[in-house]
Amino acid sequence: MWNTSRPAKTAEWLCTRCGVTNRRLVEPAATTAKDRCVSCRQRHLIRIDDSPVRWQAEAA
Ligand SMILES: [Zn+2]
Repeated sequence: MWNTSRPAKTAEWLCTRCGVTNRRLVEPAATTAKDRCVSCRQRHLIRIDDSPVRWQAEAA
């Protein structure tokens, strides 16, 4: 389970390859992260945007 002393936030991003919505838990102060699409397994670099929830993604 998640350690409640280190709360995480959810980064939501759209796969640039197949369009699927992915979600990843990141640390509260994180502004970038690496993730892999749950559907097509494409690696992405995700970056926080104006919205704290919907992040921008680019294939990596
Ligand atoms: Zn995908």
